Amino acid sequence: MIEFKQVSKHFPPGISALSDISFSIGRGELVFLAGPSGAGKSTILKMIAAMERPSSGQVLVNGQDITRLKSASLPYFRRNLGLILQDHALLLDRTVVANVMLPLLISGASRDDALMRATTALEKVNLADKAEAYPLALSGGEQQRVAIARAIVNRPQLILADEPTAYLDRDNATQVMNALQAFQAAGVTCIISSHDEEFLGSASRVIYLNQGKQSQTWQSAAMATSS
Ligand code: ADP
Ligand code: ADP
Repeated sequence: MIEFKQVSKHFPPGISALSDISFSIGRGELVFLAGPSGAGKSTILKMIAAMERPSSGQVLVNGQDITRLKSASLPYFRRNLGLILQDHALLLDRTVVANVMLPLLISGASRDDALMRATTALEKVNLADKAEAYPLALSGGEQQRVAIARAIVNRPQLILADEPTAYLDRDNATQVMNALQAFQAAGVTCIISSHDEEFLGSASRVIYLNQGKQSQTWQSAAMATSS
């Protein structure tokens, strides 16, 4: 589903964010990008979402070289991604359910249809009872699960989550990870960056990065035989 071929990324003036990264991720995998802050994890997620271009190398998504996508087709491409990025905050002056309805309304759904699908999405992350609340009345973990509901309301086949458990206590982090694992169990491919090691055991594969270099890749035995 996703293939990185010798991908490097430089930012001026001479920062090497990624050097010579190669991996492939199959449909339905739950993959962690692990490594310290600054390792290049966000850059990889942004490349998969066609928000950063590699300086060299290829990024294939479903066999398509996304570095060659025309800018006019980017919104359509991203509509099929569930993005949970660090800088995509919730709208604080709108209710939880209104936040989750937003992507559907933007892509032309009717209000009734959007409300129904947003409610289903909130049920999937266990937040149906908070639909009419405002984001600031929720705990950090609940806010992150609203962001997940918003990301999956279009039923994407691929979820990209950048440090979804950062700043959360253990209980909230566990709830967020359980929500993401439930999507994987339903067949959705999930790629999650994390600098903490606690949840790595639930992955089908862990790609370790350090200073933009792939240091090692761990793959569960079950996945190694099936992919
Ligand atoms: P991580 O997500 O693992 O914390 P990032 O992918 O955010 O790492 O960053 C990798 C490196 O690239 C860091 O040195 C970071 O400062 C640099 N970097 C990321 N984005 C930019 C940018 N837009 N401009 C300049 N440097 C950047
Ligand atoms: P955490 O410690 O994980 O941040 P909180 O203790 O803040 O969680 O929240 C626990 C519960 O209290 C949550 O269900 C949340 O919705 C509710 N809550 C938190 N802050 C407020 C608030 N300002 N107004 C109403 N409810 C709140």
